[in-house]
Amino acid sequence: MLLEVRELQVEFRTRDGVAHAVNGVSYAVDAGETLAVLGESGSGKSVTAQAVMGIFDMPPGRITGGQIFFQGRDLLKLREEERRRIRGAGMAMIFQDALSALNPVLSVGDQLGEMFVVHRGMSKKDARARAVELMERVRIPAAAQRVRDYPHQFSGGMRQRIMIAMALALEPALVIADEPTTALDVTVQAQVMDLLAELQREYRMGLILITHDLGVVADVADRIAVMYAGKIVESAPVRDIYKAPAHPYTRGLLDSIPRLDQKGQELYAIKGLPPNLLDIPPGCSFHPRCPMAQDVCRTDEPALQEVSDVRGSACHFWRECLHDRDH
Ligand code: SF4
Ligand code: MG
Repeated sequence: MLLEVRELQVEFRTRDGVAHAVNGVSYAVDAGETLAVLGESGSGKSVTAQAVMGIFDMPPGRITGGQIFFQGRDLLKLREEERRRIRGAGMAMIFQDALSALNPVLSVGDQLGEMFVVHRGMSKKDARARAVELMERVRIPAAAQRVRDYPHQFSGGMRQRIMIAMALALEPALVIADEPTTALDVTVQAQVMDLLAELQREYRMGLILITHDLGVVADVADRIAVMYAGKIVESAPVRDIYKAPAHPYTRGLLDSIPRLDQKGQELYAIKGLPPNLLDIPPGCSFHPRCPMAQDVCRTDEPALQEVSDVRGSACHFWRECLHDRDH
């Protein structure tokens, strides 16, 4: 297994108390496999990925439990220097906002080239040539000329391609893409997602695709892990989830994807808001929003149960959910 996250726990200290952002998450990604991690904002999907990368957005983030194995090594036991090396060449991250992730005062050629100078000891000239090759690889038109341009001179979609090029430059074994197309309009979204999927196959890398939009990952993911309140509530092959969700939250996410055959109908939205991580509801944390909730849901927390040998659901009533086709 390329990456294995086991029972990870992450907390944030805030002025108002301790936010339980990740509460015992386990998932695994193999080489050449794409795992989509799905959930609303605040579900812990980005924070889990940041723990894998060893970088937190917000400095007070603290890993309080669990293990992260990457190529067989427990990352949480490594020194910062070793983690930095892995971050450079073993794993890379693609962010939602390319404009703030790229350096505004360096040309894209210099930024791409720097990867080869620093990590591969190439000369500036060779590094520049590799930068042009990479830009061609992510299909930036007129790459040989545009290599001198600065990030702000590119469109949003082209900038996202440059981010993908940066991430792939050192041919990492694992790429984590956090909402890589959310800032783009729909047609560009599809193009960027297709490109990412194509490169993923070609490089046989493991890919973690973090998104709140189930529609975006349908064609590219192998497996989906659905997160809610810092936990995985359903984990399954994509096909199974589309056929019939085994968790009411997944069902809600599925029903809120716009569909062509339902044009004009009002889109379903899951009622209510994601829970406050300072004060997660007892029992099943989804119960205040769940259309299937019973008394037991308010008191007993459901464990992740085996639905099949490749599928799990953390719902007391996953059987009913699975068989109820038109709730
Ligand atoms: Fe809904 Fe109960 Fe299942 Fe939670 S355990 S998802 S509240 S039915
Ligand atoms: Mg996020």
